[in-house]
Amino acid sequence: MDRGPGSAPSENGVNEHLIFELLESVPGVAIQGYYMDGSVFFWDQASEQLYGYTRDEALASNLLDLIIPPEMQDAVRDQMARAEIPEPRVLHLQRKDGQRVTVYSAHTAIPYGGQQPRMLCMDVDLTERERAQEQIARLGYAVEQSPSLVVITDTDLRIEYVNQRFQAVTGYTQEELVGQSPGIMRYDAHNIDLYSEIGQELAAGRIWEGQFKNRKRNGDPYWEKARISPISNSHGEVTHYIKMAEDISEQKALHERLEFLAFHDPLTGLPNRALIFNRIQQAVAESERSGRTVAVIFLDLDGFKDINDSLGHEQGDALLIQLARRLEGQLRNSDTLARFGGDEFLLMLKDLDDTWTTVPVLERLQRVCAEPVQLAESRIVPACSIGVAVAPDDSQDAADLIRCADLAMYRSKERGKRCYHFYTRQLDDQLQGQLELEDALQKALSEESLFLHFQPRVDLGTGAVESLEALIRWQHPSWGWLPPDQFIPVAEQSGLIHEIGRLVLRLACRQIQAWRRQGDTPLPIAINLSANEFQHPELYDRIMETLRAYDVEPHMLEIEITESAAMHSVAQTVDILRRLSDAGLRVSIDDFGTAYSSLNHLKRLPLHALKIDRTFIQGLGDDPQAHYEDATITQAIIAMSRTFGLEVIAEGIERQAQADFLLAQGCRLGQGFLLGRPQPGDQLPPGAACAAPCTPTPPR
Ligand code: C2E
Ligand code: MG
Ligand code: MG
Repeated sequence: MDRGPGSAPSENGVNEHLIFELLESVPGVAIQGYYMDGSVFFWDQASEQLYGYTRDEALASNLLDLIIPPEMQDAVRDQMARAEIPEPRVLHLQRKDGQRVTVYSAHTAIPYGGQQPRMLCMDVDLTERERAQEQIARLGYAVEQSPSLVVITDTDLRIEYVNQRFQAVTGYTQEELVGQSPGIMRYDAHNIDLYSEIGQELAAGRIWEGQFKNRKRNGDPYWEKARISPISNSHGEVTHYIKMAEDISEQKALHERLEFLAFHDPLTGLPNRALIFNRIQQAVAESERSGRTVAVIFLDLDGFKDINDSLGHEQGDALLIQLARRLEGQLRNSDTLARFGGDEFLLMLKDLDDTWTTVPVLERLQRVCAEPVQLAESRIVPACSIGVAVAPDDSQDAADLIRCADLAMYRSKERGKRCYHFYTRQLDDQLQGQLELEDALQKALSEESLFLHFQPRVDLGTGAVESLEALIRWQHPSWGWLPPDQFIPVAEQSGLIHEIGRLVLRLACRQIQAWRRQGDTPLPIAINLSANEFQHPELYDRIMETLRAYDVEPHMLEIEITESAAMHSVAQTVDILRRLSDAGLRVSIDDFGTAYSSLNHLKRLPLHALKIDRTFIQGLGDDPQAHYEDATITQAIIAMSRTFGLEVIAEGIERQAQADFLLAQGCRLGQGFLLGRPQPGDQLPPGAACAAPCTPTPPR
């Protein structure tokens, strides 16, 4: 039986050939024809593509073997047996390669003589659409689960969708937001401009990228880094906007913190050097236009190091914080207060009428500085030294203004602290002089033009020389002899004092060694040590090593430390003096009576002698009894030494009457031009009596 298509006209007389040709040309529809036993009689090109079987393969097979998957076999066979026309529906059929295809399948029966009808099946491939739908579902899931904040609005900027992350970050629910404008999350007014800028970009079909601050449901701000783009439909019309954003609040906070730290002092929270420097620069530039004055005020705490050393850094920090708050309280909005370094503060006042406008401010600053501060364990009364420089008079350069203010502050320190000074040109000249001196001193150290002279300390009763004081001398090739008072302070400031100290120590020991080598009995030598030298961690070792190197016994060396140095950082001084004294060295307090010793501290120092400052001795004049004050002080110091069990030495004795008076008061030892001037070691044979014994005057 020929059952091929179009082999016979259909019942209604239409040539089937034509029908099948027509069917073949329907685009996107795969058409198969089969008999009720499943044998295939028609298989168009679209079916070849859809199911992977060629027409010839299909025509030689049964439909059940071709595309009906196992789970459908029974039902289809059943249907065929009943010649039933299946309802149109979606089916998952099987390709030649085993893969499933989703089709929308519709059947129609073609009458076939008197026999069972033939079926014509038209399948539309839904695989692509299904794939597209799956992809959309996946994308939807990705958006929903995305760590980004996603918002979709219509073109009227009404929210249609927000994802989970957005809800989690902002605290709003999707229901609350749908239909609303994103503007309800605007944090502050300044964003209005930003919002309109975004609107314009989007309206022009462009993507907007940037950062802004929004408000959460609870009012807290958060930062978004966003990209907002238009979404177009297949006709190219913009239908929606989508915002993909990141919550960058943490990065922002970190960034802000870093920025703050870059320009602020972490302890006090005040602006730091860099920030005030910029502000001074700006203020000076403004003042050039306005003709107003800018003042730069350098403020340094007096004795902060001692506070830190004795009370500890924590208390020192607490003091700085309290002072920072106090000083801040004195400022106008336009002023800047910065912590410049350890105990240094820098203040900038701008827009002043003139230099003198600063005076009341300076006085206020000093006043608030000097109010007592209660720390954890003690109450202290701080004080500060202040230096001021002004623009445009002193300089118009920020760095230079700071330098000038610093220099003026140093002048305040030199002038007894707790005061303020304005910068003047002379300060610079003086500094220049100091720098030259420092240079020359450095050279002197390497050229060995520093020497020691020795002044005898004499027993006022017998005239015997008991010991010598080493005093440094400098002969400069063109300036001549320079007294130590002129260069020791410069050496202290520049740090050269440590090298000088080492030299003095060596020269003193060498002198003792030299006398020994030439057969003389050497006398003990006292050397002067500056306050700074006591801060040097190696002082003790250095002294002990030098003594060993020159074979000098410790009791042959005495340390003279001025009263003010001894009262400086007391804890440290006590410690080092104790170690030296334990090692056998003698220790005396120089220039006694010139500083304000606390007897309590004095008691703690391991001392051997007090040296009465020469101003009191000179004050005695020719007739000590006529100079009541100096005589009383001298007597008091002698009495006190006796109480503490200390030796007492009077300095600067120039007259016999002074020596007599001192001896009568119980001061056994003296030093002065009357008894012997400082001389080079080789002109001073040890053991030689330098002056005739004094005639003791009986005490009254
Ligand atoms: P000082 O330690 O109090 O030394 C005594 C000063 O008084 C010496 O001055 C000495 O020449 C001077 N003098 C002694 N007898 C008389 C007198 O009868 N009348 C007067 N008017 N003056 C007298 P000099 O040598 O100029 O030293 C001044 C200061 O320089 C010293 O005072 C000491 O503080 C310091 N100095 C000297 N040598 C050194 C040193 O090697 N190292 C350190 N750090 N300082 C030193
Ligand atoms: Mg001395
Ligand atoms: Mg002295």
